[in-house]
Amino acid sequence: GSVFADIEGAPAIEVFKLIGDYNEDTFDKKVNLGVGAYRTDEGKPWVLPVVKTVEAMMAGDAGLNHEYLPISGLPDYRTACQKLLLGSESPAIQSSRVESFQACGGTGAIRLAADFLKRLMNYDCVYVSKPTWGNHKTIFKRSGFSDVREYRYWHPETKSLDFQGMLEDLNNAPERSVVILHGVAHNPTGVDPTKDQWVEIIKTCQAKNIFILVDIAYQGFATGDLDADAHLPRYLDRNNIEFMAAQSFSKNFGLYNERTGNLVVVCANSELKAKIRSQMELIIRVTWSNPPNHGARIVTTVLNNPANCAEWKEHIKEMASRIKQMRQMLHAKLKALGTPGNWDHIIQQIGMFSFTGLSPKQVEMMINKYHIYLLKEGGRINMCALTTSNIDYVAKSIHSVVT
Ligand code: PMP
Repeated sequence: GSVFADIEGAPAIEVFKLIGDYNEDTFDKKVNLGVGAYRTDEGKPWVLPVVKTVEAMMAGDAGLNHEYLPISGLPDYRTACQKLLLGSESPAIQSSRVESFQACGGTGAIRLAADFLKRLMNYDCVYVSKPTWGNHKTIFKRSGFSDVREYRYWHPETKSLDFQGMLEDLNNAPERSVVILHGVAHNPTGVDPTKDQWVEIIKTCQAKNIFILVDIAYQGFATGDLDADAHLPRYLDRNNIEFMAAQSFSKNFGLYNERTGNLVVVCANSELKAKIRSQMELIIRVTWSNPPNHGARIVTTVLNNPANCAEWKEHIKEMASRIKQMRQMLHAKLKALGTPGNWDHIIQQIGMFSFTGLSPKQVEMMINKYHIYLLKEGGRINMCALTTSNIDYVAKSIHSVVT
């Protein structure tokens, strides 16, 4: 017998199962639209040239070593991340009301936020968008939140934001709830509120005393402009609202496996910072003790060096514009084929992902008949998994499963 005999296998995580199935598929025209990472027009991962430059510098730097970083991370990294998020004019930074914590990816930053909100602030109810990134609910449950709710977000008929539904659900939130708002380029739908809609959403959160956690994993991917994509956190800052923001550099630096994230806490006065910091450090100490160095060192160097930073901004523009180009092409091809239905949402949505609106049955056909792999819910596809070489095949396959 084994002490592990009673362990039951957990259900597969859909996105990883999809990758496994794709890898085993021997069909030559197979396409994986399920991946959550940037791909070039050759369908390859992209190590950003500026990242390579900085890595070469690091390799030659005899002053670097492998000593532990401070519990809350590299100090220069934390301040550079704050500035990237809130801008150089930030009222909160200028009045020294921002604290932040280097984290193992955006995931780690969200986990720190959830632990802190539960353990130190006694929050127990969290709202996530319906649908949302698969990890949100589980992280909050693991952190001890017993009441995990959804606010309406995607409207399947209009293939756009269910704005009224969202406001209604937030308006019905119990006193002292937390809400996760996607900072920009909503995953998985590709649908963001407009600036005017954000005003109403934030007003509702304020009226209901809802604490806001901004999850911002795609800064730069929506418009290609880092400042424009930071509209939400900067709006909160300008309006003197306390909030947290979980940043991830997995996508916009292509540092997926380096676990490069940051949790920003904006509070009402600078005296609160030391207390928040000491408590957060206790949480970090028992979670990963201290964060990894490599990705944070790269990000810090790039953000603090004007020439490197200018190059990075060009890379971001390139990634964002390739995504937009694929949207335009797919849309044009479906129109040219006369595929039934309105496909304008493909060009209206932003960021890396699109909810195509394909039904689970149609998704199944895409996978089984055409060897094109995508997520069931909403028929989510990664726009940058499309390339000039596979887009014809994908468009024709979509056309055929729809008609
Ligand atoms: N939030 C959202 C909405 C995401 O899509 C992701 C990455 N898929 C993350 C957070 C976490 O990113 P990381 O890989 O840096 O943990």
